[in-house]
Amino acid sequence: MPMAKNEMKSFWVSLLVRATLPLGTRWVRKQEAAILRDGRPLSEWETMWAHDVGVRRPEDVRILPVPRIPTPGIGFFRMLNNLFGFLSEGPTGMAVNYGIYLEASQATNPSLLVHELTHVAQFERLGGVEEFLREYLTQCVHDGYWDSDLEQEARDAAAPFSRPPGG
Ligand SMILES: [Zn+2]
Repeated sequence: MPMAKNEMKSFWVSLLVRATLPLGTRWVRKQEAAILRDGRPLSEWETMWAHDVGVRRPEDVRILPVPRIPTPGIGFFRMLNNLFGFLSEGPTGMAVNYGIYLEASQATNPSLLVHELTHVAQFERLGGVEEFLREYLTQCVHDGYWDSDLEQEARDAAAPFSRPPGG
């Protein structure tokens, strides 16, 4: 019996994810190490927000503002990144396990930080870098970046923080 259309899609998605995972995991760990080395810890307020979105170890989180969020420079992963906008939320922020990059111009934007803290909680909940990436890439390839459950959760958590000041 020929494979149904959905099975066919799942087959290609899992193949793509398995091919991407080792390089992706290595890249994410390298970025995390740089942020843990040079970043700052969370403030008291930020620690409360981290607790609110489910981060279990806010004291381990570090934030590093950078002029530009780095993107994977490795061929296959970069191609995926270009196709689907994986990992980096446009140019403004990125969570890599306990490390958070914020674009310098956005470094005091609470809704962006809460969005990224939600991803940190997801890394913890799913069991680490490789487990998060497997789930995240699968969802992004299968459902699209915007419609993935992990992105929706982060957007919902950040929504109350995106009201204009005084609003
Ligand atoms: Zn996100």
